[in-house]
Amino acid sequence: MSNRAFNFCAGPAALPEAVLQRAQAELLDWQGKGLSVMEMSHRSEDYMAIAAQAEQDLRDLMAIPSNYKVLFLQGGASQQFAEIALNLLPEGATADYIDTGIWSQKAIAEGNRYGHINVAATAKPYDYLAIPGQNEWNLTPGAAYVHYASNETIGGLQFDWVPQAGDVPLVVDMSSDILSRPVDVSQFGLIYAGAQKNIGPSGLVVVIVREDLLGQARSACPTMLNYKIAADNGSMYNTPATYSWYLSGLVFQWLKEQGGVAAMEQRNRAKKDRLYNFIDASSFYSNPISLNARSWMNVPFRLADERLDKAFLAGADARGLLNLKGHRSVGGMRASIYNALDLDAIEALVGYMTEFEKENA
Ligand SMILES: *Cc1c(COP(=O)(O)O)cnc(C)c1O
Repeated sequence: MSNRAFNFCAGPAALPEAVLQRAQAELLDWQGKGLSVMEMSHRSEDYMAIAAQAEQDLRDLMAIPSNYKVLFLQGGASQQFAEIALNLLPEGATADYIDTGIWSQKAIAEGNRYGHINVAATAKPYDYLAIPGQNEWNLTPGAAYVHYASNETIGGLQFDWVPQAGDVPLVVDMSSDILSRPVDVSQFGLIYAGAQKNIGPSGLVVVIVREDLLGQARSACPTMLNYKIAADNGSMYNTPATYSWYLSGLVFQWLKEQGGVAAMEQRNRAKKDRLYNFIDASSFYSNPISLNARSWMNVPFRLADERLDKAFLAGADARGLLNLKGHRSVGGMRASIYNALDLDAIEALVGYMTEFEKENA
């Protein structure tokens, strides 16, 4: 019997229970080989097969075209903020960035250390409650790339459209919504995602990069941050995060068993509809994000009286509804409802919210 709580943490986030059970079953003795995946040489035939299978499963799930490399790197999504500029922004060139919240701002700040960054659009005039339409963007002709975050994990702001950048490569931080619904990979030059939201354990970052963008790194780019060197070495220039890679592979297999990303879209749509509909119907709870920019993955909400926040969180904890406290920069509550959480988690949360409103409204 499992005693698992519903974990609404923004990251590191809940993993599918079936994946954890499989990892547990294989922990001491992987497939009769008498050792743990954690103890294998990354160059061994067994580990190479684990790594290759994980990549293939991700390729299948996202229908990644063959002219894209899939890299399993370290340093999380934050390392990519510098890595992207070091690889894709030649000295003297300009890159366009879209500011829709804290993660895009961190990418902008890091990009600024390496070259000229043009903030082509910002959600600031909308108090970060809406995403400026592309007709309001000031893109630079001939920019090295356009960078945006498809889902702002902290603010709960998500693109429900893909920007059009013409011949300029589109670079997207998909850390918190990768694999949550189908995307057309061919629209992007580079997709990156820290693993700990919708993929696997933290520390790992998955990079999906179009081949023609490789080989342009600055000479000052550290070897370990060079995409081409990573690609040429199968993400094993040094010892990769072997166990995180393996565990991510188990998540990919689980996703395939669930029906893939299209099935996840249906499930995630039902989950977010249930929660937003409940919040909108209530006069006690609220979510301020404009309707077409509401995140499917991170749902921030407020109570009518913030003096009740503490009691709300304590009651939630007592019922095994964990990590609902909003980010310190936003306040209020946030429910992160990634792939690993099913509709029953939303029902449990809505049930508690209903009860708490009755008692406190
Ligand atoms: C979590 C997150 C990051 C940072 O990820 P790390 O792996 O901690 O560096 C960056 N961007 C987005 C959109 C995130 O959700």
